[in-house]
Amino acid sequence: MELYSGHINKLIEELAGLPGIGSKSAQRLAFHLINMPQGRVERLAHAILDAKENVRYCRECFTLTDQDICPVCANGNRDHSTIMVVENARDLAAYEKTGKYDGVYHVLHGAISPMLGIGPGDIKLKELMQRLEGDVNEVIIATNSSLEGETTAMYISKLIKPTGIKVTRIASGVPVGGDLEYIDEVTLLRALEGRVEL
Ligand code: ZN
Repeated sequence: MELYSGHINKLIEELAGLPGIGSKSAQRLAFHLINMPQGRVERLAHAILDAKENVRYCRECFTLTDQDICPVCANGNRDHSTIMVVENARDLAAYEKTGKYDGVYHVLHGAISPMLGIGPGDIKLKELMQRLEGDVNEVIIATNSSLEGETTAMYISKLIKPTGIKVTRIASGVPVGGDLEYIDEVTLLRALEGRVEL
């Protein structure tokens, strides 16, 4: 026996497929959406479609942007010879919020995880190596301090070492398993300043 209408079940199913949303949360959200005024639901649906249609990867750093080149890469005052490698666009935003980093970024869109079957070819690593053919002095690896983040950092440093480009890793201080996006700005800056050469 179906507990809810087929339409609601479909909505719950879609919501439950989102990261961090369990089936209980999906049910709560579905009923919340149904009870929202029509106009708000339409604005939400429109915002999702609009973002999906208009947001793309920056041609240089692969962060999400509305333009061909993101504002950081387009900024001539930034140090384009220093590249900070992060796992996702949220980590980039966390470092940008400190306002103290003047290099550019490279967004991997994930981390290597043998357990989840995510290999080097599944993240934007090849694209990073292509960028290193340009004028680059330092690559700062700022992946998370999770097992996946550390595995990725080690893999990248091994790849870059032969090129002679300086490779550094942000210092600990970022707690083990800690997602960069949840860490306060002072800790982020301390981790950046205390980075060590690999
Ligand atoms: Zn960019």
